Formats: sequence, C-alpha cells, structure tokens
Amino acid sequence: MVYYLTTLLVYGGVDAVACLGLSQQFGYAGVTNFGYIIFQSVGAYVAAVLSLPPESANGGFQIYVGGLHLPWPLPWIGAAAAGALVAVPFTFILGKRLRGDFAAVGLLVTALMCNLLVTNFRPLFNGAAGLSLVPQPFSGEATPQGAAYAWAYSAGAVVLAAAVYFFLRRVVRSPYGRTLRAMRDNDAVADSLGANLRQLRTAQLVLGGAVAGLSGGVLVGFITLWDPQAWGYAETIVLFAAVIIGGVGNHKGAVLGAILVPLGFEEATRYIPAVGPPGFIPALQWVAIGLLIVLFLWWRPQGILPERRILLSRAARAGRAVRTADDRREPAPSAMAAGAEMPARSAPAGIAAWRRPGTAEAARRAPGPVLEAVELTRHFEGVHAVDGVSIAFPAGKLSGLIGPNGAGKSTLLAMLAGTLAPTSGIVRYLGEDVTAVPAYRRARMGLVRTFQLASEYKRLTVVENLLSAVPEQRGNSFRGALAGPRYWREQEEAHIARAEALIDQFGLSKLADAYGGELSGGQRRLVEIMRALMAEPTVLLLDEPMAGVHPHLAREIGSQLLGLLGQGLSIVMVEHELAIMDEFADPIFVMADGRLLAEGTMSQLRQRSEVVEAYLVG
Ligand code: ADP
Ligand code: MG
Repeated sequence: MVYYLTTLLVYGGVDAVACLGLSQQFGYAGVTNFGYIIFQSVGAYVAAVLSLPPESANGGFQIYVGGLHLPWPLPWIGAAAAGALVAVPFTFILGKRLRGDFAAVGLLVTALMCNLLVTNFRPLFNGAAGLSLVPQPFSGEATPQGAAYAWAYSAGAVVLAAAVYFFLRRVVRSPYGRTLRAMRDNDAVADSLGANLRQLRTAQLVLGGAVAGLSGGVLVGFITLWDPQAWGYAETIVLFAAVIIGGVGNHKGAVLGAILVPLGFEEATRYIPAVGPPGFIPALQWVAIGLLIVLFLWWRPQGILPERRILLSRAARAGRAVRTADDRREPAPSAMAAGAEMPARSAPAGIAAWRRPGTAEAARRAPGPVLEAVELTRHFEGVHAVDGVSIAFPAGKLSGLIGPNGAGKSTLLAMLAGTLAPTSGIVRYLGEDVTAVPAYRRARMGLVRTFQLASEYKRLTVVENLLSAVPEQRGNSFRGALAGPRYWREQEEAHIARAEALIDQFGLSKLADAYGGELSGGQRRLVEIMRALMAEPTVLLLDEPMAGVHPHLAREIGSQLLGLLGQGLSIVMVEHELAIMDEFADPIFVMADGRLLAEGTMSQLRQRSEVVEAYLVG
C-alpha cells in the first residue's frame, strides 16, 4: 500500500512537472512542440549516466557514455541542463521563418529520428535495451527499499512540482508573459509591435526543455531504468491531451490534466480485467485518449480550467462588475464603435496618451522626408504587386495612399514596416537605410504599422492589447519577469493609466476588460489604432484603419490624429473612403497596378483623368 501510494505521488509529481513545461510552451507561448518527449528523455538519460558508475563496474553488461557516479542533486541538475541545451538546436527548426504547423511536424519527425538513433546506436545509451540499475539518490546512505525512502522521494517530487508551478507562474504573470500570449495569438502582429519572436521562442524552448529534462531526471531516479520504449512519440500526445483537457493557458489546468490523464488513465485501466489478445487494453487506452482530445476540442476547447481573464481596468479593480461576452443579453455597452450613437461626453481634442519619443522630436526638426521608398519592388510568383515605387513621405503630415483593390498599397506598407522583404529597392527611415532591419526592430525605432485584416489579440483583454505594445517595459523580459512584481509593478500601473485614458477617449471604457475576440469589427479597428499609439510611434502606418468604424467616430479619430501631427508624429494612411482622405490627408499618393500613378492634394488629383479612370476601372 505504501509502495502504491508513493509511486502514485512520484508519477503525479513527474507528470505535473512535464505538463507544466508543455503548458508553458503550448498554452502560453503558442509553441507546438510535438517533440516534447525528447527533452524529458534526454533528462532521464543524462541523469542516469551521471549517477551510474563507469560501465565496467557492473561487468560491462551495458554500455553508455558518462558513468560519472555523481551524488544527488548533480544528476537532476544535469538533467535540467541537458534538456535546456538540447533545446538550442531546435530553435532553428522553430525559427521565425517556419510557420507554426510546419515546425510542429518538423519536431515530431525529429523526435522519431532521435528515438531511432538511440535505439540503434548502442554506445550512446545502451541502444534498444536501455539503461538499468540506475543508482537512486542517496542510495549509499539510505535504503531505497524502505518505506521512509519512498515517502521522502514522493514528497520531493511533489515539492518540486510545486516549485516549478510557482516559478512558471511568476514568469507568465508578468508583462513578459503577456508578450508570450500576444505572440501565441498573432505572431506577425507581435513582430510588428517590437516582439523578437526568435528570442522569445528560443527562451520558451529552453525553459520548457529544462523543465522536461528535470522531470525525466526525477523519474529515472525512481524507476531506475530508461529505454527507448519509454519515450515513443505517442507519449507526447498523452502530455498534450493532459494540457488540453486540463486547460490551455492555465498552469493549474496543466497540473489537473497531469493527474487526470497520464496518471488517472494508467490507474483506471489497471482494474479492467484482461480481455482480448495481449496488448488489447493498452491499445484501447490510446483510442480513449484520442477520443477524449476530440471530445474536448469539440465541446470544451478551453479545457476543464479555462485560461483566466486578467482584469486590469479601474472598474474591475474597484470591484465593480465587468462586462464580458457572457452578458450579451444586456444592452450593448457603449456601442459607439459598432455604429450606434455618439457618447454624450465628447472626447477632448488631441490624444493625450500618445507619448512623443525622442525620434519624433528629431524627425520634427530634421529636414527631408521621414520615410522613403526607393524603387521598391515586390513580386509574388509573377504578380508584380509593387513595381518600382519611389515615394517620400513628409514629416509632420498625414499622407494618404489610395488606389483600387490590388493596387499594391498593403504590400508597400508591409515592406515599409519590414513585415515583408522587398524583391528589390530600399526603405529609408529618418534618413537611414533600414531595408535589412527586421520588423520588430523597426517598431522599436518608432516605425509602427497596423494591419488591413483584423489583428487584435483575441485572448488578451482590450487593456492588455494596448499594454502589449508599450516599448521598454521593465517586466517585459525573462529576467524582468523573474525579478518579480516589485520590480515592474509601479511602471506597469503608469502604463495601465495611460492605456485607460486612451480607451476612454475612444469610448470603449466599458469594454476595457473584454477580450479582443469579443469585440465587434469596428471596435477591433479602434483597439488596433490605440495599440499602435501605445507603441509610441514616430511614423504610424495605418492600413484602412476606419473600415467598419462609424463615420462620425472615424471623423473624430481623424481630427484627433491630426492633433498629433504638430507634436512630431507623421502618419501614412491607406483609406478607401475618399471623403475622409479629402478632409484629413495631404499629400495624397495614388497607386494602381503596383505603380505610383500620381501625387498631390485631393483637388489636384480630381482634375487628372488617369486618376479618376484608375478609380472607376478599379
Ligand atoms: P491593395 O492593398 O492595394 O488592395 P495588395 O498590396 O494587398 O493590394 O495586393 C497587391 C497584389 O499583390 C494583388 O494582386 C494581390 O493579389 C497580390 N498579393 C498580395 N499579397 C500576396 C501574397 N502574399 N501572395 C501572392 N500574391 C499577393
Ligand atoms: Mg490592402
């Protein structure tokens, strides 16, 4: 009985640690690591060969590298370090260029290959037979067969799981954790707002790898053997099932899932009488786990413990009721953006929450254009989306960019912001050639874009959407997150206040704690504009920002943006509504078929037949 209970506790602790690492990668950072089991396995192997004596000691019946016979806790530390180290080469698979689903398949294939390699290459870890007789921690001083030892080991495993939980909680409950979730929800947008995707993903792979490796080390110290069958790719699926069923984006859910799935299943099926041919019951287990995943994805994709909404608005923190999509039965909250009526209180002129960065000041004083396209070209397999466009956007102006659908406006914007690499040509920002500068760095330099398609972070609240864009947050790094709230809380409060002021001005205060995914189309556009302003841009590139926004409100926002021009902001805006262009934009550039057709004020352009024609034909 003691043995049964303690074994259960050790397995529970090990599974919880493993699921926490996966939850961190998959649930928070959106990294789908189908090779996760490799990292646990590396930890187990490394802990084994660190604790085993030299291979000759047992008569050489098994061969392996290492055999250092190190005392505890060195094998466990080695296991975590090995998991972290092995993660490094994988970051190339998960590099920014590879789409998430391809990377996931790449990791799965790598996991299979690693297993084959270890199985067939005996000198490494004794091949298919695996390692056995791994010395347990303190096996010299204590008696591993005794009940006291078993209790101590299980207590150790549980304490370790708790420690990992609190450690990861500190990481995710921080501005850094918010950036991870932003990347999970929409990585291209996070990139355009200053998030270094490669660095973030590398950190999460290494962190998850260390956690997985540790779980392997703890496991092998208890069961004293490890072989390739213990880590087939299917084991990864069990862990994914645990995280999905427990709750994605919730570390408590990961722990619950670890108890329910790997542990619960093993235990439940133990009592099923052995029917059918050998291997029948285990096979049924797989079917059951597969079915469970499907059922949950269908009926409760958020899992048993869903991701918790992070309430940051004044109202929420004052304990007042928060409106969410759950209370849609009530009259729609401040539906101004959705197109109802204007709010009674009109917003003050000028957007107070925009902060002028140093570059904006420099841009205001320096002569010459703030942003320049020189012979910019982009081809898509024969389609000349943008074909040798040269434009100089003046400082302190709202430049308009118009043209029929497919003219190449969005493609041009993407190249200016660095989201898309040009086929040829140069982008100059504040006089500097930035063609080779990646998008996230251009954003940090003050060149910030919005997207034509909806690009709000769906599982971040409106306040969080805005906060995610703020540059240079103290808590927005792994180290800053580890330093804890005391290090970043005060600055965060100031950012929240700024975000709320902006949200008030845009008439969305009642929705401050709503998820981005719960908003109407027009409200999403507003969130995107606000978020871009929070990034403290010097040059703001807006791709059809007013689409779906009530004309009244569009006009008001337009005039507020104009108010910022005098303070050093420059804007480039793509817009279909000529009336809005007429009122706010000067100069206006006309594109058609990937080329620059004309430029001038709206009234000048109206006189030119080719412009009118392009519009009528387009
Ligand atoms: P606009 O924003 O002016 O409506 P776009 O820049 O979106 O135009 O598109 C210009 C042309 O480039 C269109 O013909 C479009 O089909 C093509 N295009 C844009 N993006 C891609 C892509 N990723 N792959 C292939 N073709 C593209
Ligand atoms: Mg477009």
